[in-house]
Amino acid sequence: MQPTPAERGGTPKPAQSFRNFAAEERSSVREFYRQNHTHQTFDFVQEKKRQYLGLDRRRMSVWEALEYLDTLVDDSDPDVDFTQIEHAVQTAEAIRRAGQPRWLIVTGLIHDLGKILCLWGEPQWAVVGDTFPVGCAFSDTIVYPEFFDANPDRQHPVYSTPLGIYSEGVGLDHVHMSWGHDEYIYHVVREHLPTEALYALRYHSFYPWHREGAYDELTNAQDREMLRWVKAFNRYDLYSKGDGRPDVSGLRPYYEALVDEFFPGPLNW
Ligand code: FE
Ligand code: FE
Repeated sequence: MQPTPAERGGTPKPAQSFRNFAAEERSSVREFYRQNHTHQTFDFVQEKKRQYLGLDRRRMSVWEALEYLDTLVDDSDPDVDFTQIEHAVQTAEAIRRAGQPRWLIVTGLIHDLGKILCLWGEPQWAVVGDTFPVGCAFSDTIVYPEFFDANPDRQHPVYSTPLGIYSEGVGLDHVHMSWGHDEYIYHVVREHLPTEALYALRYHSFYPWHREGAYDELTNAQDREMLRWVKAFNRYDLYSKGDGRPDVSGLRPYYEALVDEFFPGPLNW
């Protein structure tokens, strides 16, 4: 990832302009998804799970992870007016203002911490961007679907079929998602937060499901019940970007207490 410029002259945008890939036409976003859709195969996902889900790399506090993240720029995001730590605090503040429970506020603060995968040299296409199931056919609702033509799984006899290796109603917990920061942070914090929060974390980039309504055939009753939390969370994640720049240092005491409440010690990464 590229270092964050010390100062970006960001101005708030109207809500409807968020995620407008065409309007911005940042060629880096397009190139990002070309790489992502070409390389996120079922086998790639299994390899990354073996590599990372042992969580035996480092012990690190939430704040250490946030401060590392602040040096990164997300190429997949057409809305890049804020630093990562500002985005974290902004999302959490939007949730706090809405009177939501403390577990959802802390979820807002930590939701992108999985991007520390970049610490270990993962390319951006294996960390960020919209996520989708692997092991079954790619939905046309995924952004830039044409780039899947270069993905070997599109020719696979099983992975290219509508249900692939899954059975109807199998439940998302049994579905392998394209590898990225959602899945990783879910595993890092799964002992510490309620189920609703874990859904918000694990599926916040799964736009084909929570926005487009695709992949319903893979979900079970719990997934469908939890979908409203994923959607609720997404509003704060996305539209808080229209708020002003948060006063990160002023808000820090509040967030330190909140983090201590849910994560009293360092986490395994
Ligand atoms: Fe994210
Ligand atoms: Fe985010």
